[in-house]
Amino acid sequence: MNIVNEAKKIIEKAYSEGRRHLWEDEAKYLCSLYGIPVAKSKVAKSEDEALKIANEIGYPIVMKIVSPDILHKSDVGGVVVGVKNDEELVKSYRQILENVRKRVPKARIIGILIQEYAPQGLEVIVGAIKDAFFGHTVMFGLGGVFVEVLKDVTFRVTPVSREEAEEMIKEIKAYQILRGVRGIKPRDINALVDIITKVSKLLEYHPEIVEMDLNPIMLYEEGKGAKVIDARILLEPKS
Ligand code: ADP
Ligand code: MG
Repeated sequence: MNIVNEAKKIIEKAYSEGRRHLWEDEAKYLCSLYGIPVAKSKVAKSEDEALKIANEIGYPIVMKIVSPDILHKSDVGGVVVGVKNDEELVKSYRQILENVRKRVPKARIIGILIQEYAPQGLEVIVGAIKDAFFGHTVMFGLGGVFVEVLKDVTFRVTPVSREEAEEMIKEIKAYQILRGVRGIKPRDINALVDIITKVSKLLEYHPEIVEMDLNPIMLYEEGKGAKVIDARILLEPKS
């Protein structure tokens, strides 16, 4: 299988359906083609399909609304984490649809994503934007308040080498936390460097990506890797 061609197919499929964004499972598949570790997931279009996928992946699982009209899924009751069995799955399936229909009545609903549960790690973010002049810039920071409130983030123009990725990680103010502080064990920096450089490579091969957001990535203890649990990719308008 040729990775670049396989990835291009996903992008072409989105364009052919008149979409500029990839569905979450497509974005994750694209990442996985470049060796980025992602939480297994698949979109279900019915309760029966959801049950089948959940049993393939194995409980506990996570369920998320899939809709082009919803950017922040948990804000509208569109995410349930840690579903333990078939019974809970059916309940959560109905609950998510009810929440979304109530809060965003006009939202087009594509289905519900059934996803492997990722144990809690330190949540980090790797993102990218494309500038008409500079090309792609990769962003890195810790998740949650670190990015949203403290704006503790760092940027590099692609291509980002391993050395540059290491610099990025060291230059955020929260670097101390990654190295380990009271109660928090040192994190797998190497896995993070891998993700940053692989994102950079992916962007080089797919210049039509204008925005990318891996948020969050669970970063585990040294030697235990990382896992992308939410991925958003936006394409430039079709020329
Ligand atoms: P959104 O950002 O659109 O609200 P996310 O997919 O990021 O939705 O999920 C919201 C939060 O739920 C995440 O920040 C994470 O804390 C938790 N979560 C999501 N998916 C998983 C998963 N597969 N395993 C464990 N926790 C998850
Ligand atoms: Mg998210």
